[in-house]
Amino acid sequence: MRTRILDQPIDIVNMNEAIYIVKMSLTHPKQLRIITLNPEMVVNAASSFEFQAAINNADLIVPDGTGIVWGLKLKGYKEIERIPGIELAEGVLDLANDLSKSVAIFGGREETLQRVTEVFKIKYPNIKLVKTIDGYQGESKEEKNANNIACENPNIVLVALGTPRQEIWINKYAKLFPQSLMIGIGGSLDIWSGKKNRAPMWARKNNLEWVYRVISEPKRAIRILKTLPKFVWMIISSLQTRQDF
Ligand code: UDP
Repeated sequence: MRTRILDQPIDIVNMNEAIYIVKMSLTHPKQLRIITLNPEMVVNAASSFEFQAAINNADLIVPDGTGIVWGLKLKGYKEIERIPGIELAEGVLDLANDLSKSVAIFGGREETLQRVTEVFKIKYPNIKLVKTIDGYQGESKEEKNANNIACENPNIVLVALGTPRQEIWINKYAKLFPQSLMIGIGGSLDIWSGKKNRAPMWARKNNLEWVYRVISEPKRAIRILKTLPKFVWMIISSLQTRQDF
């Protein structure tokens, strides 16, 4: 079921339902564009036409972000749970391995991609990793990169350029991938490669993963502090004026 949060579309799904949708798209190939929505994205989409279009055109938009879950609970979706983007991406890769599907990755640093390629060989031996392209070649190469990836006809395209660039890239080049699952995976490659650690389990269980990331990545702290208070304020002021959000 699709609803809205602060004017952005969001699907009321849990992890099992999201994985079921992924499985259907991999077994009956058709395009599936996935967005893992967080408060920063909601705030930024309001001032970017391109980003807004990318969100509107997604087929599955899951709540990745404690703030999104908080807002949806206030709207009455009491059962809603967070779907961390990295866990959904790992679910996609587990299915890709079971079904022997092909995967392409665009984004991340060259050395990170090399390490991830080694990790995938062990963890997902049935996946055919048909293309990896690093994300530091400049925006002028984006179209060429999209064409190079499309030549391999991958079942799955993982895009790790950071948000909103990854979502905008997917929206721009989706026409080249009519039967692929496409998902923006943010910093997941850095974690899979071992370059960074995920928050400890206690932080994840208590919806504090974002706090861990703010503390461990000062650049992210600035980004989050610019948008999170605005997101919270927008919800609280709507509640006070009894407006729908
Ligand atoms: N990245 C990239 N090219 C760039 C900037 C970033 O490929 O010009 C990669 C970066 O190496 C990282 C990912 O994009 O693996 C984004 O990481 P971040 O944690 O910032 O993304 P977020 O989760 O905030 O979207």
